[in-house]
Amino acid sequence: MQEAVLSGHFLSIGECMVELSQADDGHLRKGFAGDTFNTAWYARACLPEDWSVDYFTALGDDAMSDEMATFMGSAGIGTASIRRLRGKTPGLYMINLKDGERSFSYWRDSSAARQLAADGDALRAAIEASDVLYFSGITLAILPREDAYTLLAELRRAKAVGKLVAFDPNLRPRLWSSLDAMHTLIADGARASTLVMPSFDDEAAHFGDDSISSTIRRYRQYGANMVVVKNGPEGATIGSGADETLVPAVKVNKVVDTTSAGDSFNGGFLAHYLQHGDPLAAAAFAAEIAAKVIQEHGALVSPKKLKIA
Ligand code: ADP
Repeated sequence: MQEAVLSGHFLSIGECMVELSQADDGHLRKGFAGDTFNTAWYARACLPEDWSVDYFTALGDDAMSDEMATFMGSAGIGTASIRRLRGKTPGLYMINLKDGERSFSYWRDSSAARQLAADGDALRAAIEASDVLYFSGITLAILPREDAYTLLAELRRAKAVGKLVAFDPNLRPRLWSSLDAMHTLIADGARASTLVMPSFDDEAAHFGDDSISSTIRRYRQYGANMVVVKNGPEGATIGSGADETLVPAVKVNKVVDTTSAGDSFNGGFLAHYLQHGDPLAAAAFAAEIAAKVIQEHGALVSPKKLKIA
């Protein structure tokens, strides 16, 4: 159990992209999404008003960047510390649907977000002003190596002064220059964190873990205090102290779209854990949120549909 906190500042750090998906009439529909932004969205939906939720990234100075920032603001997510870079644009991805199978195309190589940690002072100010930090392996993967180390150094400072630093490794080998780079930086990410929230299928595929216990052990060896391993319909296992406890998933009859299952679980978990300090109850709450999210289309399900508005 950790002490419950009644109010505070939650900061999520990473890249939000423009999302294009096919509408039923064949037109393209525009949205905004990205793993760390999705988690901020669900944390905002689940935390009371006494908590602020902010997003830290870099955007350009074009109309699409303005629209994205307005969208974030209208969802109650603070944008004051977002850096605006002249001549840059946000990253873009498109969801392709063919015979019911989804595939993704990305245009993010020169997105503004890749420079989110280039101004170390701005990064430090935003982290110092926050009580809870959240980032992912994708955040680390998109940064130039030197900037990833700047970010990790600031997160280690936050951890050292007792802040909660949560990390989802979100392993995406294609975003990394090599598997070796991914393994090294993910381990460094876990060292800078108090709480690591991996997905077991990714960890088994890319770190070769043969059991959930091995995933927990590995991240605890890197220095995380607590590990929450998500495992789809099997539920999530909390590794804390010497204990490993499985919290079952919520049974869902018809899965519509699993996009954002893990991101929404993380947002729900953190929101509940920060308010009540009980990881098992937080995982049960998070499983309910994720179950609702996978019964709807898209990454961002409205708070009304989550029935916590
Ligand atoms: P990720 O999206 O990161 O791969 P998971 O697939 O492990 O993460 O899912 C995250 C959480 O979403 C799970 O811990 C579970 O609570 C919920 N979830 C995912 N798939 C299902 C499912 N088929 N039925 C019920 N809950 C699910």
